[in-house]
Amino acid sequence: MHFLQIPGPTNVPERVLRAMDRPVVDHRGDRLPAVVHEIRRRLRGVFGTAAAEVLLWSGSAAWESALVNTLRAGDRVLSFNNGLFAEKFVEVARRFGVVVDEVQKRWGDAVLASDVDAALRADHRALLIVHNETSTGVTTDLAGVRAAIDAGGHDPLLLVDAVSSLGSLPFRFDEWRVDVALTGSQKGLMMPPGLAILCVSERALRAATAVDTPRYFHDWGPVVAALAQGYSPATPPTLEFYGLREALRMLDEEGLDAVYARHARLGEGVRRAVAAWDRQLLCHDLERCSNSLTAVWLDDLDANQLLRITASRLELDLGGGLGRLNGRVFRMGHLGALNELEVLAMLGGVEMGLALAGAPVDLGRGVAAAQAHFVQSPA
Ligand code: PLP
Repeated sequence: MHFLQIPGPTNVPERVLRAMDRPVVDHRGDRLPAVVHEIRRRLRGVFGTAAAEVLLWSGSAAWESALVNTLRAGDRVLSFNNGLFAEKFVEVARRFGVVVDEVQKRWGDAVLASDVDAALRADHRALLIVHNETSTGVTTDLAGVRAAIDAGGHDPLLLVDAVSSLGSLPFRFDEWRVDVALTGSQKGLMMPPGLAILCVSERALRAATAVDTPRYFHDWGPVVAALAQGYSPATPPTLEFYGLREALRMLDEEGLDAVYARHARLGEGVRRAVAAWDRQLLCHDLERCSNSLTAVWLDDLDANQLLRITASRLELDLGGGLGRLNGRVFRMGHLGALNELEVLAMLGGVEMGLALAGAPVDLGRGVAAAQAHFVQSPA
């Protein structure tokens, strides 16, 4: 027995550890609200308030961290709206007074080198890109983006949201000369939600010393100094650090190339199933389809009805359509700790869900198409 008698963090009772020892839940599913409501109600009692708002925050504040350290109010940046997360990244920048030239794309498009070539100007201080747009299942080719930036002779800071790509899709920070790559713990890194993780270039660190945007918690200076000693300026989520260390060991044991190949194989299997169902991918260009998730149009059915059926009848949580896509698409995640049989189970569940919802589907067709791909493609 280890005695942790520092004045906090304090010992975590077995009962609390056991409560955390459970499969991660769908944060948009119907299980979480009861937990949140109970926490807020009980916290009101602890705070001694009857009606004050008690706010719970996501730890994934990485967008804000990337922006407040590198940009000032009035700075002009370029962004492409090809999905909800690209749109939200811009929304955060605008809240800080950053002037955003936001080029509208179809949701389902990638950002192309030609888009960057056409829109990037000398006075753009930064380029904001979502590597893998989780709302649409589309991956942008960052090597192409970097080539277009260089060909134009411009030199904006390259700020990349790698939330649903890092650890699942190849990422080459140095080769693509990214300035800030940001992610969360809950996707390819196979951890529960809660940690915001950033990778920051020398140039971005220099920008952070020059930029005076008000910040305290997000200020990189003290964070960099403390981390160099293995610490954090404030109390960090220490148990998550142990979990993350273990997850990173697992990625290294498998080998990153093998991890990416696994995601590619699983992603292709899912796309073959969608084709076998005669359903349309939201992603417009097969070359740009994401290997970490797949979004599918549903024009004959309310997608939320499918989600309700798969969740309640099959215990299968699928992603819904986000923002303007609500009710019109469903999304299948195939990232993180996942193998072929789990993907086949998900596809089988989708087929059953479609049938239960009264949509036309030949049971087994999508599963068979994915199986054929898994058998044929080397593991
Ligand atoms: N960026 C992308 C691409 C995402 O997929 C998400 C969440 O799914 C986020 C940002 C926001 O992360 P969080 O909800 O953890 O704040």
